[in-house]
Amino acid sequence: MQVPAAFEYARATSVGQTLQLLAEYGEDARVIAGGHSLIPMMKLRLARPTALIDINDVAELSYIRVEGSQLRIGALTRHAELLASPLVEEHYRIFADAEKVIADPLVRNRGTVGGSLCQADPAEDLSAAFAAVDASVVIQGAGGARTVPLTEFHVGPYETVVEAGELLTEIQVPIRPGGGSAYLKVERRVGDWAVAAAGAALWISGGTVQAAGIGLAAVGAAHFRAAEAQEFVVGKPATEETFAEAGRIAAEHTNPVADQRGPVDYKRHLAGELTTRALRAAAARAQGLEA
Ligand SMILES: Cc1cc2nc3c(=O)[nH]c(=O)nc-3n(C[C@H](O)[C@H](O)[C@H](O)COP(=O)(O)OP(=O)(O)OC[C@H]3O[C@@H](n4cnc5c(N)ncnc54)[C@H](O)[C@@H]3O)c2cc1C
Repeated sequence: MQVPAAFEYARATSVGQTLQLLAEYGEDARVIAGGHSLIPMMKLRLARPTALIDINDVAELSYIRVEGSQLRIGALTRHAELLASPLVEEHYRIFADAEKVIADPLVRNRGTVGGSLCQADPAEDLSAAFAAVDASVVIQGAGGARTVPLTEFHVGPYETVVEAGELLTEIQVPIRPGGGSAYLKVERRVGDWAVAAAGAALWISGGTVQAAGIGLAAVGAAHFRAAEAQEFVVGKPATEETFAEAGRIAAEHTNPVADQRGPVDYKRHLAGELTTRALRAAAARAQGLEA
């Protein structure tokens, strides 16, 4: 049986205390939230933190609310809470679509939104969904808080701009009325990580796309975004031709790796097809054509 290397353990009850404990235990201390990614990595000795700072009792990090024109999601919000939230469903259906295909209820009951983003797995579904809706994250450290656009948050596979001693506290999503959004994923079996996945958010007026966001997971898209395809669709008619061309552009700019989930060409093909379908579904929702 695999067991992690020895570590110290402390349980925090507030953001302030978490930051204090992180400083106290030093740069090799790690925050633990749901533990669904960190514990397996510790068992495999791919991570060897000297101390774990448990944030599961930090209630102030668990919320979903609308403030002004922003949807605000606390970092400790569980996948299951995001999936069940009427507020999230009202503004961005992309999250319910994504959450339904993330792992299984056991993982969703415990895994957190902040943990998912900080894990920065290249196949992470929420990173692609948040990229599609132009989210930002709030990171707190001893020197105060900073807000970072999601497009600057991931610096590589399993790497983010969160530094030792810092804590991701909130995800902020701008609310723009009248849009539609959707997320689609191809997986080898139910609950598996994506072979490829795409999310889209669209705002349409008079049959023309006014604003758009497209996120991609598991296909090596920079910052989980199909930036070129996103730029292409804005100002174009919301038609099948536009969405097909956007899919082609998105596929062209992916950089997938071959692995047990499939070869490069297959993943690139999926990236294009899923982008087209996600745009189609988002457009139907934006135009009230789909329940
Ligand atoms: C069987 C299985 C299947 C899965 N399938 C999928 C899937 O299909 N799609 C998908 O997207 N995900 C999937 N996941 C991952 C799942 O979404 C986890 O919830 C997620 O990876 C990590 O969340 P966590 O809260 O468990 O984080 P943890 O494991 O506790 O932490 C992960 C990392 O984030 C850091 N961290 C956590 N919270 C913070 C914070 N607030 N501030 C700073 N750092 C923080 C930790 O130090 C650690 O480095 C799967 C996981 C499992 C176990």
